[in-house]
Amino acid sequence: MGAPITIFRLFRLRPCGRELLVRVERPAASNADQGALDGADRFADAAAERLRERWERHLKPVCAHPHTSSVVAEMQEDPVGDDLFGPGRRTLAVWVAQTEYGAPWTVLGTAATEAEFWQRVRLDDALVGLGALAPAEPHVVHFLTDTDTDTDLPAG
Ligand SMILES: [Zn+2]
Repeated sequence: MGAPITIFRLFRLRPCGRELLVRVERPAASNADQGALDGADRFADAAAERLRERWERHLKPVCAHPHTSSVVAEMQEDPVGDDLFGPGRRTLAVWVAQTEYGAPWTVLGTAATEAEFWQRVRLDDALVGLGALAPAEPHVVHFLTDTDTDTDLPAG
């Protein structure tokens, strides 16, 4: 069996530019079984979509216009910093760096400064392997995870 994979996916809403970062688990699947791999992908995609739809519903009182969304960043390795391993339902400042593999592949995470972000990226072989490209851009995102409950979701 291939191990489960933690996926971070950043959505941007138009026209307002609000951003939602979701963390979902792609279940373990046999690397020898393409059907199982596709099923695991669909499971993770559906979980991410549920979180996006839930967030858009909760945004209605503060941002009533219709939204369209697109995926602007994705990462399937452990990010920089501890914040993104914790609970969601909060607003976070994250650094997002493009990679040599092109959109939407990015290296992202939390750090007090961009210099600290790069310092931590360079100490992590898995992150170095993603080919991150400077500069990292600061984003303020709403963060939700597939382990958050549906109650009291802030609409920020
Ligand atoms: Zn909006």
